Parts: sequence; structure tokens; C-alpha cells
Amino acid sequence: MGFHMPTKVLYGRDVVLKNRELIQNFGERFLIVTGKSSKKNGSLEDVLDVLDGKYVAVYDETPENPPTAIVEEIAKMFTDADVVIGIGGGSPMDTAKAVAVLLENPELSAQDLYESNKYKKAKPIICVPTTAGTGSEVTQYSVLTFNGRKRGFSHECIFPRVAFVDYKYTLTASEELTLATALDALAHAVEGFISLRATPFSDVLAVESVKLIKEFLPKVLNDPENEFYRERLMFASTLAGMVIAQTGTTIAHALGYNLTTEKNVKHGLATAVFLPFELKVTNNEKSKFINELFENSLMGFYEQVGVKLPISFSDEEIESWAKVVLNASHLKVTPGEYTLESIKNAYEFVRSNFCI
Ligand code: ZN
Repeated sequence: MGFHMPTKVLYGRDVVLKNRELIQNFGERFLIVTGKSSKKNGSLEDVLDVLDGKYVAVYDETPENPPTAIVEEIAKMFTDADVVIGIGGGSPMDTAKAVAVLLENPELSAQDLYESNKYKKAKPIICVPTTAGTGSEVTQYSVLTFNGRKRGFSHECIFPRVAFVDYKYTLTASEELTLATALDALAHAVEGFISLRATPFSDVLAVESVKLIKEFLPKVLNDPENEFYRERLMFASTLAGMVIAQTGTTIAHALGYNLTTEKNVKHGLATAVFLPFELKVTNNEKSKFINELFENSLMGFYEQVGVKLPISFSDEEIESWAKVVLNASHLKVTPGEYTLESIKNAYEFVRSNFCI
């Protein structure tokens, strides 16, 4: 067993502003990939401040669940960048990672990103998370929408060089975003813990992350401007990211992708609703341990924090989604047996328990 997470993590309030020189030393021409919210939460302003004197280009149109076409477009627009900074939730950070690969290897198409033997290097990547959830700032993954489906790629070269993790950017996050992103972190910690690739190193981080989310997510929802609570959730999210850098994610992520691409459900929410089902199928010491952390009622916790899915779906949709999930690579690291029938049951479970 081992532990590999080569990203330098700098953590704390104002951590970007306190490390001006470190960021400046990365290069001369910076490309910032972000969405609209980084203007409101102060993260873009901090990064622009420390890049004073450098050439800086900003792409701030990153959509949620970015399609690979956007990645190609950005790489063509900013060919001369020598450092890529991703600021935001998972979508801008994952886009930044993919762009960094294409900038270093201009002969590649976005489709080639999924063939990891076609490239070795990327431009240096710096990540500044502004949600407590994705953990992308400490992983070698980038999840994009390819041919209408969410599909991740993984490569050593897209581990960010530095992650600047400052909870203050999450203080303005809406209740809906706070809940959905924290549920993503919870899914990372739980799936990583039961994953067949879990190690005693990743387990320590996973358990701590689950405990923190259980304690502090309800507190943040009740008191969203409380800096201590926000900091604890940010810490939990970073730990959970370190977990999946070791273990990958399991079937709940594969199941959830369909609800995100077809029904527009936020990724964390779409994923976490499958955890109770996955834990039931797993049915081993580890799933029991997780259930006990929630007093044997993860569903009760979900009710407490208001997990609901304002969507509906048909038996035909379930049938077509289940076929996709059955072929997902996530199944290889998921404990327990899954068939087309049991995967359909997972969607039926979610439909009858969470859909209104
Ligand atoms: Zn996730």
C-alpha cells in the first residue's frame, strides 16, 4: 500500500495573499479559468492582486459540467499561457486541468485526454477551490462532459502543483450550493472508505472527513456566515479529495452522473442520494462502520439537512441509465455484486425515497 498526493496544500485564511512570491515564481503568462462566482466571493480579486505585474488572461465563462468542446476552445484562445490557474468549484478546476494538458500538447484533441498514454506533461496547474466539496484541488482527475455523458480522465500530470485552500471564499455560497457540494465531499469520503482500493492511510482521512461533515454541515446550514463552521467543512472537503486521489470513486458517482447530465441535478446531490443504497449492497464491516457514524440512519441525516430531488424519471430512463452504469469503470473498485437488475433497483430506491 502507499499514499501519493504530490500537490502542495496551503491552507488557511488569506492564504493566496500571503503567498504572492510563490505564485509569481511559477511563470510570466497566466491563464485563469473560472466561472462568474469568483468575482463575488473575492477569490478572483485575490489572485489578480498577487499576479500584479504579470501577463494575465481570464476566462470566466466556464459552465457547470463543462463539455470537452469548451476545453478545446479555451486552449485555442490562450495558446501562449505558461501557467493555468483554476478558480472555483469542480467545473473550472477540472476545465483548467484539461486546458493545461492541451496547452502543453497542442496536437491533441479533447478526446485524446482520455488516452493517458498519448501525453506525459501538462502546463503547471494551480487550484483555488471556492466550494467545500469537489476536492479537485488535490486530485489527478478531471471530469468533463463528453458526447453528452460525464466522463472523467485521470493523469499524474494534472495533479495541481499548489492548492490554495481558503474557506473564506465559501462564506457567500448559497444554501443550495453549500448542501450539494458538502454532499459531494461526503460521497468522496464514504465511497473512498468502502472502495476496494482503500488503504489504512486513506481510511484515516475518510473517517475524519465523514465525522466533520456529519457534525458541521447542519451547523453551516443554520449559521452560514460562521467562519469556524465553514472552515471545518472546507477541511473535510480537502481530506475527502485526498481520499479519492488514492481510491477513486465508486458506483454512487457512476449512478449520479446520469441525474446530472439528463436531469440537471447538482453533482453532489445526484451522487449522495445513492449512498444509502450502496452501503446496503456493500454490507460489510466498513459499511456498518459508516452507518454507525450516522446512528444507523444516513437517511435521517439526509432528512435533517434537507436532501430532496425535485425531479421525476421513467422506467425507460432507468433502463437506459442502468445499461451505462453497468459498463462504468467505477464498478471495478466497488465492493458487492451489481447486475442490471440491482442497478435499476438503485434508481428505483432514489425515486421512491427522494423524488417529490
Ligand atoms: Zn464527486
